[in-house]
Amino acid sequence: MAKFDYDLFVIGGGSGGVRASRMAAMSGARVALAEEYRMGGTCVIRGCIPKKLFVYASQFGEEFHDAEGYGWSVGERRFDWPTLIANKDKEIARLEGLYRKNVEAAGVTIFGDRAVFEDPHTILLLNEGRRVTAQTILIATGNRPTREMGTTHIVPGADLCITSDEAFHLEKLPGRILIAGGGYVALEFAHIFHGLGAAVSLVYRGEKPLRGFDEDLRDALMASMARRKLNILLGCEFTGIEKRGRCLHAETNKGATIECDQVMLAIGRAPNTMALHVDKAGVRLGRKGEIVVNEYSRTSAPHIYAIGDVTDRIQLTPVAIHEAMCFVKTVYEGVPTSPDHDLVPSAVFTTPELATVGMTEMKALGLGHSIDVYKSTFKPLKHTMTGTDERSLFKLVVDAKSGRVLGCHIFGWGAAEIVQAAAIAIRMGAKKSDFDATIALHPTAAEELVTMRMKSYSKAPPESVS
Ligand code: NDP
Repeated sequence: MAKFDYDLFVIGGGSGGVRASRMAAMSGARVALAEEYRMGGTCVIRGCIPKKLFVYASQFGEEFHDAEGYGWSVGERRFDWPTLIANKDKEIARLEGLYRKNVEAAGVTIFGDRAVFEDPHTILLLNEGRRVTAQTILIATGNRPTREMGTTHIVPGADLCITSDEAFHLEKLPGRILIAGGGYVALEFAHIFHGLGAAVSLVYRGEKPLRGFDEDLRDALMASMARRKLNILLGCEFTGIEKRGRCLHAETNKGATIECDQVMLAIGRAPNTMALHVDKAGVRLGRKGEIVVNEYSRTSAPHIYAIGDVTDRIQLTPVAIHEAMCFVKTVYEGVPTSPDHDLVPSAVFTTPELATVGMTEMKALGLGHSIDVYKSTFKPLKHTMTGTDERSLFKLVVDAKSGRVLGCHIFGWGAAEIVQAAAIAIRMGAKKSDFDATIALHPTAAEELVTMRMKSYSKAPPESVS
């Protein structure tokens, strides 16, 4: 008789947990998975997928406007929030069903329950009160939006605010919304709500949103937000939020009180390790509560692994899936494989979007590269007839010595689709001369990548400046 109930117990049915459980089961392991909420995790249920559906919804208004330049007369425009929510919920339910079906088809037992550690090999399923044992345990519990505003204390009234979790289920579209933060979620939702007709103010504590992104992309986004009359309050933080009647009143460090219908916090996410009792299994947590792992996603307990957002490495679905595949290769296929966190492309789905892969100028210089930068700003062909003053920005950061393309940064329509393809070339070590030798696909925006012949400027790393 087997010593343990299962070979592998996976805690969390998100992108990472689902992929790891399926692949491990398909390699012959006896696998169980616990998910206390809905299969699919943040990405499917309250993240990437519903967000992208909201992004599409939010962009029709501009498209109706643009259509007029092409001779279309668009009649009365009306947006119905409950229809969007109902259709989004239907699609999410469909996807959730697919996730569940695929996991079950692979032979994984799903427990719809909250799992906590009782000892290093024993999991307690809280609702059922059942104990199960496993030889190997994988923690893939993800993360959740934090409400911990303010640098020194928790801001009073944080409980009156929504986060992205609630934004997907609001009963009605807020007329006026304040969004705190300057990262992915804040920027995406600012554009979503603005596009749907709300009056949006983005409240960001720093000088310019999207810290760590390419400076030109950040500037292009700021200019585009200004053109769209999307209000940005910089150097601004909430000091308190109060409910007065039906409205919320948010006080800021600038001494202002702003009245609105909703305040949304998009100030980062915290790992889901609270109440998991990982201490009972000898699993060490880091400063932010994240699970500390080595290069093989192994925790301080040798038979327990962790992948995805709960490890606070790179918080992106495809990265969690990649980590899951590496875990399965390492543990079930006998090939120790570390996840590769280099050259991970990502996009911020603003309107228009921005996307990036590889090094920014600053990163490349910091790593000692002398760089040549190729930049192009232009009005997309489509907007020559719409009257919309929209500009796209393409940028390549190239190692001056080898000619290798180190980074590609794009702001504009289709940026994410283009960067995904450029990421393949950059991963293969493409040089600027390879980009130059590639024949353009005309007329597209993407052809800019292979037609930027004139270097915009060069820079040398600080230490080599005499
Ligand atoms: P981010 O880490 O991207 O941004 C957090 C923002 O909140 C930053 O602007 C930060 O400011 C600000 N902030 C942090 N703490 C405070 C505070 N105490 N008071 C006020 N402001 C604060 O987090 P998100 O929640 O936006 O996204 C989480 C992760 O999810 C992302 O890192 C990304 O990996 C992933 N994601 C990816 C998406 C995509 O691929 N399109 C979409 C959504 C999320 P500062 O810059 O000053 O530190």
